[in-house]
Amino acid sequence: MVKRNTWQREAVREALTSTEGFISAQGLHMNLHEAGSPIGLATVYRALADLASEGDADSLQSPDGESLYRACTTGHHHHLICRNCGLTVEIEADAVEQWAKAAAASHGFTEAQHVVDVFGLCANCSSTIPA
Ligand SMILES: [Zn+2]
Ligand SMILES: [Zn+2]
Ligand SMILES: [Zn+2]
Repeated sequence: MVKRNTWQREAVREALTSTEGFISAQGLHMNLHEAGSPIGLATVYRALADLASEGDADSLQSPDGESLYRACTTGHHHHLICRNCGLTVEIEADAVEQWAKAAAASHGFTEAQHVVDVFGLCANCSSTIPA
């Protein structure tokens, strides 16, 4: 497979790396535009999908079904995401790993994978937003 290592892709990778927390393709596209880049939205979508499929970026679905991306540490991990400010904490979850393995095995599944991300309000937002 030919790697499409274009300037667009590098621009997207750089923009993602300098972004705190998860961001949508539209959000990243807007940031790039504000920085003066002529990159198109479709290109941003494709570059993000490429980065995610090669493990260079994490992707997840927000509760309202939007794909969000982030340049993450490599290796399997989970996220706590503040749905108000976007703060993202990477967490390890041994209990989840054990449970997922056991649940899969008990149904005869092998090579099971899982995605577990927790959305909520961070401590800061919890104290500033009235209930
Ligand atoms: Zn991550
Ligand atoms: Zn927050
Ligand atoms: Zn896990």
